[in-house]
Amino acid sequence: MARRADNAPQGDISAGDGIFAGPGEMRALCRAFDWSTTALGPVESWPLSLRTIARVVLDSPTPMFLWWGPELTQIYNDAYRPSLGASGRHPQALGMRGRECWTDIWNAIGPQIEQVMSGGPPTWHEDQYLPIERNGRLEDVWWTYSYSAVRADDGSIGGTLVVCQETTSRVRAERERARLLHALDLERTRLATVFQQAPAFLAVLRGENHVFELANDSYYQLVGHRELVGRPIAEALPEARDQGFLELLDQVLSTGEAFVGREVSVRLARTPGDAPEERFLDFIYQALVEADGTRSGIAAHGYDVTEQVSARREVERLLHESERARADAEHARAAAVQADLAKSQFLANMSHELRTPLNAIQGYVQLIDLGIHGAVTDAQRETLARIDRAQRHLLGLVNDVLNFTRMGAGRVEYDVQVVDVADVIADVLPLVEPQLAQKRIDVEVRLSTARTADVGEPAARVWADYEKLGQIFLNLLSNATKFTPPGGRIVVSFTTREDGSAPPDVAYFRVADTGIGIPRDRLDAIFEPFVQVRTDYARSTGGTGLGLAISRDLARGMGGDLRVRSEEGKGSTFTVALRRA
Ligand code: ADP
Repeated sequence: MARRADNAPQGDISAGDGIFAGPGEMRALCRAFDWSTTALGPVESWPLSLRTIARVVLDSPTPMFLWWGPELTQIYNDAYRPSLGASGRHPQALGMRGRECWTDIWNAIGPQIEQVMSGGPPTWHEDQYLPIERNGRLEDVWWTYSYSAVRADDGSIGGTLVVCQETTSRVRAERERARLLHALDLERTRLATVFQQAPAFLAVLRGENHVFELANDSYYQLVGHRELVGRPIAEALPEARDQGFLELLDQVLSTGEAFVGREVSVRLARTPGDAPEERFLDFIYQALVEADGTRSGIAAHGYDVTEQVSARREVERLLHESERARADAEHARAAAVQADLAKSQFLANMSHELRTPLNAIQGYVQLIDLGIHGAVTDAQRETLARIDRAQRHLLGLVNDVLNFTRMGAGRVEYDVQVVDVADVIADVLPLVEPQLAQKRIDVEVRLSTARTADVGEPAARVWADYEKLGQIFLNLLSNATKFTPPGGRIVVSFTTREDGSAPPDVAYFRVADTGIGIPRDRLDAIFEPFVQVRTDYARSTGGTGLGLAISRDLARGMGGDLRVRSEEGKGSTFTVALRRA
């Protein structure tokens, strides 16, 4: 043997170390290894079959691993070596007993080796997950490998050869691919759902005939859930054809230029068989371009904006209407102002024209009364007195009207100064005295003048226009006289606190009577011009219904006010509020 080995060319497997001749880490390790310590014995004693397979293993670029002999002594090649990692089993695994080397996975591989060694069929494992300790940690590794028998020289089974391929990267790639495919699938489903449930309507039309390929829920809703997919638009939606939409589609398909429509009016049957109804759509027709640049169809998408358009139109209509109403109101107001002015002027002229002859009548009555034109009989004197009363009455009315129109024209001027109200009352009271006497109405004035005021009693002094305040009190006193039955009572009084809450710089003057009173629902109306509650009274007592309107305007013109409280059948109290002096 030694001689043959000496003469054998390098790599001659008949030679002892020829099996391990050649480059590579595993060959070097095999050469250095003392095989006599293993069940295989020294290399020189190895049977041909072992030599041959050992040589095949060491020569192969495919990872291979051999268990040989009764103890399953191990030999592996350079290609297998990385599977054992930088630290761990290598290089101790060389020449080691199988069972000792693979204690951790012996449960899995032991029976397979046993099967092969006992003449059973070879095993084939594809993409098996066999994590191994490699590069200092437990790595996830997949393998495709087979265990097959290797015959010994005598034809019996001498060992088990493992030929393996690490498929970790392929398995990983496949898994990644599967994961990506799954993700893609999810994304596709999600997109399909979004597309299907989008509030915008969407449809894809294919080919020159614009055949519906797909349409989402909103599109179906828009066109009344008709059958679309697989049908040309002209057939599926005849009204679209009749309204010129086919020409638009043709144009987009032939030019590739998108069509954008804003608030386009479309008549569509929303329920099958129904008459078409008008809808407004914002939409786009967009050509679908294939990879080779051809235009294969059109995507139609957009929104039904009917509600917005209707709402906007309604707002526009209302705006227009309110604008017209405003113009009408303005016109009416201008006309009213004009009419009011004309009326005021007419009344002013008339009053003036009437006063002149009335004054003349009074003059002539006085001349006759004085006997200038001869002796006057008692009967004549009586008649003259009646003429005089009628003249005064008429003059009073004319004065009221004139005053009122002056107010309306804003031509009243106030000479405001400190006024002692007791003086005013003392001035006007005699003017109503005859009527008071005639009706036996008792008048009480509870006012202290600055001269008569007791110590501690506030003086009834206010800021006012003396004449105008006189006019107010004359009106209130003559009303009280007019509307109080014979034997009644009138009280003129003064307080600085009407109801306890008034600011101290206001003075209140009350003219209270025990007359017929004013119905509750007329309390506001009596301050309106020409309003009289009891026309029967008015006829017998005269009056124009202007007195209170004028009086309140005058009171307010002096910074005060005029108010009333009354109870029907019991009496009325008019209160003049003025700034205290
Ligand atoms: P006129 O006295 O000329 O009718 P006024 O404007 O002074 O006009 O009064 C309007 C109406 O208010 C009166 O016609 C009358 O119906 C009612 N009125 C005014 N004062 C009293 C009063 N003291 N008692 C009852 N009613 C009154």
